[in-house]
Amino acid sequence: MGRYSRPAGGLLHGGLCMAMKREACDKWFSNCVRHRDKHTCQYCHQPGTDCAHIYGRAKKSVRWSMDNAITLCRYHHQWFGSNPVAFTDFLTKIYGEGHMEILREKANSILKTNKALRKEISDHYRKEFRAADAHPNYTIVSYN
Ligand SMILES: [Zn+2]
Repeated sequence: MGRYSRPAGGLLHGGLCMAMKREACDKWFSNCVRHRDKHTCQYCHQPGTDCAHIYGRAKKSVRWSMDNAITLCRYHHQWFGSNPVAFTDFLTKIYGEGHMEILREKANSILKTNKALRKEISDHYRKEFRAADAHPNYTIVSYN
């Protein structure tokens, strides 16, 4: 993963961050995450509308990583946002410690973005979403 360099630190959180600007790359990424999870809250298994980031969107290295996002219903997205320890426990239970450790290292690396890269990410997820939409068994590929 040549785009990554070394740690910057940072905490796991699932908080809503509505102030941050969302672009086309975020929209197509979110569509892919929710499609992968069949629009179902991965906690309560009720219909889920939200693409919740494990490490918040400020962590660019994992902002568009499929393994850093999970579909939740609005209620659980907000609830986990205010209960980060419970969110970490839940994620560790479903993904395992190994996955969480790999994700932590990835989140602590640096990804510099620019307009061209965000366009590339947007194109990637738009293409993935369309493929998944057309073929029920298609597995969406993460950009990184
Ligand atoms: Zn829920």
